[in-house]
Amino acid sequence: MSQSFPSFRVGLGYDIHAFADDRPLVLGGVTIPHARGLLGHSDADVLSHAIADAILGAAGLPDIGHYFPNDDPSISGIDSQKIIVRAVEAAGAEGYTLGNVDATLIAEAPKVAPHLAAMKERLSQSLGIPTSAIGLKATTNEGLGSLGRAEGIAAHAVCLLARLEY
Ligand code: MG
Repeated sequence: MSQSFPSFRVGLGYDIHAFADDRPLVLGGVTIPHARGLLGHSDADVLSHAIADAILGAAGLPDIGHYFPNDDPSISGIDSQKIIVRAVEAAGAEGYTLGNVDATLIAEAPKVAPHLAAMKERLSQSLGIPTSAIGLKATTNEGLGSLGRAEGIAAHAVCLLARLEY
């Protein structure tokens, strides 16, 4: 099938991780002081996972579980910024450049607003786009359901990929 240029692709990512004791809380590559962290095979950075999946999805590629299986002991505790870098590289190999990312964290606790600027800075480095191309918001779940009971944190992300050349 012929493809017209430039071509644009939108991607959607979602992730959720449960809180656990004796874990650091890493969001957007930033370690945030909190009594509990998120449970996961990697550093459990739920925001970065949602963003990586948005990028991979936009490129029509498999999700991050394909690239980073959660039963692979060699990547136990992996820094999720490496997952983002891999996603950007994989999209790049398909000819796509990242335009922007927009994401929302759903967290009853802790308050993440004071850390959003640092998270944007860190994500900017991993994504290879300016902070002005990264939207980050945080909201609570208004006390509703498991997220409202602060049992974990969820994240939604969208991104735009552009393929500009033949
Ligand atoms: Mg995850």
